[in-house]
Amino acid sequence: MTDIAEARRILEALVAFPTVSRDSNLALVDWAEDYLAGHGVAAHRVWNSGRSKANLWCSAGPAVAGGVVLSGHSDVVPVEGQGWATDPWRVTERGGRLYGRGTCDMKGFVALALAAVPLALKAGVRRPLQIALSIDEEIGCMGCLPMVAEIAAKAPRAAAVIVGEPSRMEVVTGHKGGLGFDTAVRGFPVHSSMMHRGVNAVMEAAKLIDWANAQNDANRSKPPGPLAAAFDPPWTTVHVGQISGGTAHNITAEHCIMGLDFRVVPGENPEDWARAWQAKVAEVEAGMRAVRPEAAITLTRSFDVPPLVPEADGRAEALARAITGDNGTHVVSYGTEAGFFQRAGFSTVICGPGDIAQAHQADEYIEMTQFEAGWHFMQTLVAELAR
Ligand SMILES: [Zn+2]
Repeated sequence: MTDIAEARRILEALVAFPTVSRDSNLALVDWAEDYLAGHGVAAHRVWNSGRSKANLWCSAGPAVAGGVVLSGHSDVVPVEGQGWATDPWRVTERGGRLYGRGTCDMKGFVALALAAVPLALKAGVRRPLQIALSIDEEIGCMGCLPMVAEIAAKAPRAAAVIVGEPSRMEVVTGHKGGLGFDTAVRGFPVHSSMMHRGVNAVMEAAKLIDWANAQNDANRSKPPGPLAAAFDPPWTTVHVGQISGGTAHNITAEHCIMGLDFRVVPGENPEDWARAWQAKVAEVEAGMRAVRPEAAITLTRSFDVPPLVPEADGRAEALARAITGDNGTHVVSYGTEAGFFQRAGFSTVICGPGDIAQAHQADEYIEMTQFEAGWHFMQTLVAELAR
């Protein structure tokens, strides 16, 4: 009999694998594969380029369209420098909470999803319960990309995707998109007294930052679009969080590098922002080259996470609302894998147990009541798939 104790046992096993994003997750994948095989379910690995980590997906039940994908990430953030009262790699129950790295973000949901597999098989589901377990979510969300493509191409077509990021089981229908650029400005060094003969990479980069400031001011002063209004802030932001360059106050800087990112509200196209940014960079670069033809600005995309756009009459939203009874309007400001599934044509929402406030913290925990609510979600979902 599959009950919540089984989900708890799985959670304890998952937390014991220290799957920090920088490290391999293969021990966890081996374990999950064995667990699924024990229930007669074949899982499929989708490797990263170095074959040090693998995404894992499976489809339990009949190979027909109309099932549901439960999506979670296998990686967690590091624990170094955090003062933990308990062993982060062991689930410790105290005061109605389960402590441990990843209990909330998001091995709790993954454990519940895995425990739902035997439940689904026993119930004789008529549409498949599918699981998508990803890598590298915590370091830019890009690790799931080849798995999402493979699921879209090979798995029986699902009617809905539930991404189980901690939302206190509320149905989250939207988030901003994220688009990041590493920007390298190469100038031409001369003595600062002769700066008109050189190109100062630091001062040219400042023009780009000035552009970012102007975009923020303009976006802020516009009335928000209907999809953007629910967000905080309800406009697209352009942010430079890192810059370094130059070698001395009296040398025009040869190099300056900076990290710039956009958080784009649903309703706006991140690629439009990318084009506007590239146009500004081309304009500044042209000015630099008029002085020194070897001057250049190089852009590299560091991350590209599509927004989750609230769907009109979305299947995933209807399903999650029917199961949870939640009818509120919820959007979040962080990016998730939901945007990738939606971009691949799946109806997608976020709904998972636990509170995002506990994610990434020392003494991360999930409340037992949230874990139970997550289990109730799985039971109801399986009953729905069996109808
Ligand atoms: Zn997460």
